[in-house]
Amino acid sequence: CFETLHGALGDCSCNVDTIDYFNNVKIFPRIQSLVSKDYFRFYKVNLKKECPFWADDSRCAMKYCHIKTCSKESVPGFDGYEEEYLEESPALKYSLDATTHCDQDSDHDPDLGYLNMTISAASQFEIAKWKAYDDSLENFCQCDDKDADAEFVDLSLNPERYTGYKGPSAHRIWRSIYQENCFRPKTNPYQSFPYVLSSDLSNMCLEERVFYRAISGLHTSINIHLCSKYLLSEKKIGFAAPPEGEWGPNLDEFQRRFDPSQTHGEGPNWLKNLYFLYLLEMRALAKAGPYLEREDYFTDSPIEDEETRNAIKNMLGVIYSFPDHFNESLMFNGGTQAATLKFEFREHFLNISRIMDCVGCDKCKLWGKLQTQGLGTALKILFSGRWDSEGDPGQGKLPLRHKSQKRLQRTEIVALFNAFARLSNSIRELENFRSMLSGNMEQE
Ligand code: FAD
Repeated sequence: CFETLHGALGDCSCNVDTIDYFNNVKIFPRIQSLVSKDYFRFYKVNLKKECPFWADDSRCAMKYCHIKTCSKESVPGFDGYEEEYLEESPALKYSLDATTHCDQDSDHDPDLGYLNMTISAASQFEIAKWKAYDDSLENFCQCDDKDADAEFVDLSLNPERYTGYKGPSAHRIWRSIYQENCFRPKTNPYQSFPYVLSSDLSNMCLEERVFYRAISGLHTSINIHLCSKYLLSEKKIGFAAPPEGEWGPNLDEFQRRFDPSQTHGEGPNWLKNLYFLYLLEMRALAKAGPYLEREDYFTDSPIEDEETRNAIKNMLGVIYSFPDHFNESLMFNGGTQAATLKFEFREHFLNISRIMDCVGCDKCKLWGKLQTQGLGTALKILFSGRWDSEGDPGQGKLPLRHKSQKRLQRTEIVALFNAFARLSNSIRELENFRSMLSGNMEQE
């Protein structure tokens, strides 16, 4: 599967070998160290949301699907989240504002005062609601970290790896993503297994191709992770304790999934889609870079926060230096048709983020949701228009203390960096599989 994994990637002026070197030497060590920092380690997510599309089959009993959640008190900088929730939840915020107001205004007729306060709180509530609604129009995926059922997960304790999730439930997710929620090639709309042939891509417009390639790249990354951290054996530790898994790379599984002879020739193209998605997310990081550099990355530990800010600046500096970024300005140009296409693009992606609630394995759902939210955040950065110019005249260099300057929620930033870290890790894992394969060939 590596023989054809060279040269041009298509849809961008970059090739695979350049990215291999750049990622494995420069990005990979930096991003892995960054996402191990407290700010990025905890992700708030609702894994209990009902599947909106079909009867729920997510009562997962497989033991490797299990997720360990943690209490909010154990999350460093939880106050920072809470502050954001007050900003985000107009009902809560204005009921608090109103109380303060009421206590201070002792001269007023209490009934009248209550009425005034209610009206002004109500109108502020309406305004805030509409602002939240306007902001949500830019979103490419649903954020559920403010749901009552949302819980914190320490990502380092729940690594993405082989879980045993497969069969009809997993296939229904992928099928519904490719067949109902990707743009279908007009020449071959009913193609199944593989759902889209690379030969069909030339009949799709750039935007449709980008969409498919991004989703396929995500699928590739998920499957590389399960091959590189495969369940190799189970060891019995004690009499009463459940057996513990031993995890490591499984070259046969990797070849089954990506070798051209076993994938109708598509395997290497799926691998290329991973590189393509990597470039797309890297471009989003570069585009929002000046903004991300001004975040405070609050975790209540001044030393850790300073380190995180420095690590972000350092990594973004490396990303800025990359010569061939993905060029999003070529997309969605051309009047009404382009606007319709952009609308559909966003709707399709929103649906895919909802489909993640139907994944029947909690561990897979966690990483599926995180990576779709990361990609959704990247799409928002690339296509909402908010980052097209540096904007914020006069505020460009100020830290983002004032919440009205916020364009990304904490959870979006956490998802964006972690999603990019997953892609970077996948590209690094390919290097390992390449060496295993050449080692095997030498032995033969
Ligand atoms: P699948 O990966 O299920 O693919 C179905 C079909 O899609 C293939 O037959 C092929 O025609 C096509 N296809 C495959 N790869 C691509 C690609 N890159 N681009 C385009 N088309 C492609 N399992 C785990 O063990 N750990 C996990 O963390 C995990 N996370 C998951 C997250 C999500 C959101 C989903 C939906 C599934 C996850 N799975 C996970 C399951 C895993 O992705 C596979 O579905 C499962 O291993 C069965 O694999 P399969 O060989 O039947 O093909």
